[in-house]
Formats: sequence, C-alpha cells, structure tokens
Amino acid sequence: MKPGKVLDAIAGEIRICRQCPLWEGACRAVPGEGDPGTKVVFVGEAPGRIEDLTGRPFVGRSGTLLDALFSKTGIERRSVFIGNLVKHRPPGNRVPRQEEVRACTPFLSRQIDAIQPSIIVTLGRVPAVFFLSLIPVVFTRLGDVRGRLYPLEWEGRTIRVLPTYHPASALRNPHHLMLMDEDFSTMVRALNSPDFS
Ligand code: URA
Repeated sequence: MKPGKVLDAIAGEIRICRQCPLWEGACRAVPGEGDPGTKVVFVGEAPGRIEDLTGRPFVGRSGTLLDALFSKTGIERRSVFIGNLVKHRPPGNRVPRQEEVRACTPFLSRQIDAIQPSIIVTLGRVPAVFFLSLIPVVFTRLGDVRGRLYPLEWEGRTIRVLPTYHPASALRNPHHLMLMDEDFSTMVRALNSPDFS
C-alpha cells in the first residue's frame, strides 16, 4: 500500500480510538497531516484547544509561530509531516500521562514506519524524552540536548532525532525563539548535505 493510503488508514483508526480516556473530553482526534513522501517529521506533545476544534495539528498560536519558522527556512508546511505524540487533547492542556503516551505512541510509530523520514524534529520536552529514551540519551534540561542530531536505529534504517523547543515556549521566550531558528537551520543543512539519506 502507498504511504499516503497507510497514513489515511491510521488516521481512521485514530479517530475512533478508545485506548485511553482522553477521547472522552476531546472534540476531535488530531492524527497529523502532511506529505507522506517527506524526509522530515515534526512531533509535538498533544493537540491544544484550536487543534481539538479543527482536528488539525499546530493551527493555534504555536502553529502560527511554526509557520513563521517554516517560511524563514524556505520550507512549505505541506511538504513536511506534522503530528503529535498523543492524538487527543488532554483536559486543560495538561501534560499527557505516561499511560496515555504508552497507549497512543504505536500510532506515531506506524506513521513513521509509513513515511520513513530522515529527520524527526521533536518540539518540546515530552516528545524529546520519548525519542531520546529509545537511543538511549538521558537528559535533565532540554537546553542540553537541543540542536543536535541523534542517530536512532529504526526498522533497519538510521533516523536523526533533532530536539528543539516547543513553539509555545518560543512565544514566551525570545532566546528560545532564536535557538529554534538555529535548530531549523541545522535541520535544513542536514537535509541538504550530500551524505544524508
Ligand atoms: N501543541 C502541540 O504540542 N501540538 C499541537 O498540535 C498544538 C500545540
């Protein structure tokens, strides 16, 4: 099956998922969206209020900032895939619980299997912990690991994990915004480097 069809099938499963209680308080699931043939997947934590209302990832204030970073680096939003670790909004935007992450991440793994990206950019602490723990890289402060490319062996291929801040944090902190800008440049350089698959 073509990657796009696989992603559509996974999205259908996500929309009716009852594996954890988050669906009860949510309006819509947010499966993620983008180009199934992309080399870059962006992973946030969980949908916020506007995402919950629309069923689309990063369309609120954080999404506006993400879009600005995309334009600055010459990337079109529709040319990448944007998703979340957890597909239903946690009440009041609380951090998703371990058991919710555990119940939901098989969907993300299958999305990554279908897309086969070269880079996964994690947005914020929660997705960074998830992916770096698979390597394993342990960290306390996101600032200590952000901006570097960590090789992750995934289904017989190497994917680079690039942790950066969450756009919501960059909205509050201009220094984080500057560092996110640097990290996006690192991503573009890596994608353009000849020895990068
Ligand atoms: N924050 C996230 O982590 N994901 C979204 O989709 C929106 C806001």
